[in-house]
Amino acid sequence: MKIVLASSNKNKVREIKQIFSSFNIEIIGMDEVAPNIGDIEENGNTYYENALIKAKAISKYTSLPVMSDDSGLEVSALDNKPGIYSARYAEKLGGYIPAMKKIIKICKEKGVFDAKFICCIVLYNYKDEPLRFDGIVPGKITAEIHEGNGFGYDPFFISNELEKTFAEYPSEIKNKYSHRAKALEKMVNYLKENK
Ligand code: IMP
Repeated sequence: MKIVLASSNKNKVREIKQIFSSFNIEIIGMDEVAPNIGDIEENGNTYYENALIKAKAISKYTSLPVMSDDSGLEVSALDNKPGIYSARYAEKLGGYIPAMKKIIKICKEKGVFDAKFICCIVLYNYKDEPLRFDGIVPGKITAEIHEGNGFGYDPFFISNELEKTFAEYPSEIKNKYSHRAKALEKMVNYLKENK
């Protein structure tokens, strides 16, 4: 089975391809079907809306099923922000290091370190209706940044299921425990049962 992945985020494409490599599903990058599409404006109000916007935009270029994801980090001390604005939040502050430093400062001030990574995957053009699969990873923001592997906010987030930040594990471990892995697992289980 072939699925077009509606994402130009190289880190996410790599993670998703790695997660799918053990299933009989070939992931095709959106560059192959829509090389000149440019940036798709994610102007939805929820992860689901943003994922659907991306999937619909790519589906104009292919008759294959299209999957897209939207994800973000929700920090309790910031009233669950930056959420769907996670990438833009870091961009505004000049990158992930300054963004993480700012978040750590607020968490320390409030004495609350709870956070969660959220991922919503949409599978479009597979059934009549778009299908939705959600993955949530509750965890904690660390008091320091622990750089290593991964990307984005990985260096300061510890899943409740793990002992170190996502950045401190090899990708194989992160890809077992991440919000994307959890959403993808639901999608794969669905595909196994609904061929
Ligand atoms: P999206 O490409 O619109 O889904 O943006 C998601 C943003 O949320 C990313 O650019 C990161 O800022 C953040 N994010 C989502 N998933 C992860 C992850 O697995 N690790 C670190 N940051 C993430």
